[in-house]
Amino acid sequence: MARPTVAGNWKMNTSLAEAQSLASALKVSIGDMNGISRVLCPPFPYLTLVREAVAGSSIGISAQNMNYQEKGAFTGEVAPNMVAELCDYVILGHSERRALYGETDESVNLKVEAALKVGLKPIICVGETLAQREAGAAESIIEKQITKALDGVDKAGDLVVAYEPVWAIGTGVPATPELAAEIMEGVIQRCLISLYGEPAALEVPLLYGGSVTPDSVQGFVEQACIHGALVGGASLKIDDFTQIIKTVAKVKGVS
Ligand code: PEP
Repeated sequence: MARPTVAGNWKMNTSLAEAQSLASALKVSIGDMNGISRVLCPPFPYLTLVREAVAGSSIGISAQNMNYQEKGAFTGEVAPNMVAELCDYVILGHSERRALYGETDESVNLKVEAALKVGLKPIICVGETLAQREAGAAESIIEKQITKALDGVDKAGDLVVAYEPVWAIGTGVPATPELAAEIMEGVIQRCLISLYGEPAALEVPLLYGGSVTPDSVQGFVEQACIHGALVGGASLKIDDFTQIIKTVAKVKGVS
């Protein structure tokens, strides 16, 4: 089975002091679990600090984005090697980056390849907008996003995929577990199986994201094809994020 995984995407939130105290508190509450990957995704300037705050625990660190080029005159950008020096994971293709910063399936693919090359685990985000769902295009959109993101990627080993319907992000209205499972098993896992074969594909952690709370997470991870969550707002609250992780661990039978 894929490893249970929960990642907290802090987005552009927290001060330096808040990042420090959030990470330090999470080190205490979720720092020494074994059977579940726990990942913090702070803003770039706080990566070093958060990494130091959780040092000695098995909590992983992720960036929220990166450039795919190795180095050069790209003011304001961060290169794969720079991220890899501090992080284990990198979120790629988040819908906010697709909608607000011109991220495309092609640029996500370049970033996925670059991340794997430097030993980062990409958390590849896919998801349809409300208009796309209402037009009956959700499945074809997700299939295109995942297939293009993985173009030329020959191994499933370090991949993590997050299904985040855009209409569920930050709205307080999550998808239903059944709807999420339809896409995650019927589209994402099916694409992974056709690309990498069943044994490897079934090892890829599939995360649901979109208004996950301590109350709603259980229903999602009770679905066999959902191995964890990518959490936005609730990851900024120590008790909520801790509870989400403990619920996922309990449902998946790990500690
Ligand atoms: C996200 O942006 O990745 C996300 C899932 O946000 P939220 O949990 O706040 O909906």
